[in-house]
Parts: sequence; C-alpha cells; structure tokens
Amino acid sequence: MSARIIDGKAIAQELRDAIAAEVAGIAARGGGQPGLAVVLVGNDPASEVYVGSKARQTVAVGMRSFEYRLPADVPEADLLALVDRLNRDDAVDGILVQLPLPGHIDANRVIEAIDPDKDVDGFHPVNAGRLLIGLPGLVPCTPLGSLLLLQSVHHDLSGLSAVVVGRSNIVGKPLAQLLLQQNATVTIAHSRTRDLPAVCRGADILVAAVGRPEMVRGDWIRPGATVIDVGINRLPPAPGAAKGRLVGDVAFEEARTVAGAITPVPGGVGPMTIACLLRNTLQAFKARHGVS
Ligand code: NDP
Repeated sequence: MSARIIDGKAIAQELRDAIAAEVAGIAARGGGQPGLAVVLVGNDPASEVYVGSKARQTVAVGMRSFEYRLPADVPEADLLALVDRLNRDDAVDGILVQLPLPGHIDANRVIEAIDPDKDVDGFHPVNAGRLLIGLPGLVPCTPLGSLLLLQSVHHDLSGLSAVVVGRSNIVGKPLAQLLLQQNATVTIAHSRTRDLPAVCRGADILVAAVGRPEMVRGDWIRPGATVIDVGINRLPPAPGAAKGRLVGDVAFEEARTVAGAITPVPGGVGPMTIACLLRNTLQAFKARHGVS
C-alpha cells in the first residue's frame, strides 16, 4: 500500500484564493481592506525569510502589509510601545511579533500586550482560553492548518482516535483542543509518555509535533492511519553539500507504506501556516468591522 500524499501546497493555495476573493468582495463593496502588521526584532536569518514571505503573501491576497524591523538590542519598553501603537491603529487588524525574541525581552509580556482581537498568532492567553472553553477566537496558525489538512481527508473526525505527540503551547496543545472540539478522542503524548510506539499505534490520526528528525517510524503507525507531520528539521549537510535536507518528525519513506494518508515535509503543514495567518487576519478584520 502507498499512502495518499496530502498536498499542503495545493490546499494552502486554494485557501489563499478563497481569502483573496473575499477580500476583493469586501473592497468592491467599499468595506475596507484588512491589514497585517509584522514585527521583527533582530536579524535571525530564518525569521527574515518567514517575515518576507508573510509580507509577500499578505499583499498577494489584497491585504495591507506593515513591516517593522527593530534592532536586536531594542529595549523591551520600545517594543511594547510599538505594540500599543499598533493596537490603537485602526488600519491594523492583525499583529504578529515574530518569535523567537532576543533573550532580554520577555516574550510572554509582549504577547500579553497584543490586543487579543488582533492576536492573529492566537498565542494570547485570552485566545488560548477561548479555544479551551469553545468560544470564538483566534486559533494558532499551525494547528489550524493541520486541522484543515486532516479535514481534507476526513469529512468527519467524530469518534476517531487522535494521538498528538508534542504538547507545546503553539502546536501540540491547541491542536489537541481543536481535535477535541471536532469530537475526536484525543491523547496528548510527550517526552514522558511510556511506550510511545504503542500509544501511536492506537491512533486513527497521528500528529507528530516534536522537533526530532524522523522519530516516528513506520511500525508506530496503524495501517491506514492519517499522519500529519508538523516537524521541520534540517539534517546536517551531506559531504560537499551546502545545506542539509529538510525532514519531518516522521520517517516518511517507511510511513508512506503503512499510512492511509500522510503530509510530506516540505509541502505539507508548512505552507498552511501562512495561509492560516491570512485567514486569521481576515477573521480579525471581519470581527472588528462587524462584517459577516
Ligand atoms: P517544542 O520543542 O516546543 O515542543 C516539542 C514537544 O515534543 C514537547 O512537548 C516535548 O515533550 C515533545 N518531545 C520531545 N522529545 C520527545 C520524545 N522523544 N518523545 C515524545 N515527545 C517528545 O516544539 P514545537 O511544538 O514548537 O515544534 C515542534 C516541531 O514542529 C518542530 O520541528 C518545529 O520546527 C515544527 N514547527 C513547524 C511549524 C510549521 O509551520 N510547519 C510551526 C511550528 C513548529 P515535553 O513537553 O515533555 O518536553
């Protein structure tokens, strides 16, 4: 058997097309234009790449993009003052402060300073709480993207057994909440879980969000299960190569012979993350402007 490959690139493109059409419709009715502000502190190369592609994709769907680049040694108070200004700026519907932040800045304090209704990363404790108790709110982008990929395979997740390996606040925990909301029976596994392979073998839906290259082996997977690989890991370069290969947390070649459907790395969850950021920005705009 060879698993169906879940094409995150194509699904993300469809989502961006739908967002662009909705943004164009709002503009045509004179309803305004959603705006996303992205703040980058320092010049971490990976963060620069993310921020650049966020800005490009924001403009491509017809939204306004505001970019703020602050030096690595910016005082925390200055960053908080910028967040406060963006909270009060009516042209800004979404605020994203790119993580990680330099060590002298308290990331939690910065996240908590963002207006929860503009918190398009969904990391504010108010949004985490809303997700937990089932109120409408902004949901973190990578878990939301992972759920949309799952729903491209399973029309209904109700009653399915889902195992999420990883319990971070940005991926594992919110994804487990989303799956619970969809009536899956959810297990959250982590570094202290006993006999992780056996736990994984119980899953109809297996999500790996660990950050360990190819940790989940083929024989950890129940035949026919749907596997979502959130991990993005760069292997050390082969001799003579400039860069190592990108791999997920799942041993893809083994897994694809057992699973029913699986996301590749790259081209699976990754492209969904920015598409969901745009979705959240549109949602924030609509909520702030009373657009249904
Ligand atoms: P964290 O490091 O914050 O969390 C990793 C989780 O994995 C922890 O809960 C940890 O358990 C668990 N874990 C670590 N080792 C093991 C192990 N041996 N067995 C079982 N569980 C283990 O990572 P993130 O959640 O931020 O990211 C996870 C992966 O997803 C990374 O590869 C990251 O690059 C990728 N990622 C991809 C995104 C995308 O856009 N596709 C976006 C965000 C992340 P414990 O809590 O017990 O320590």
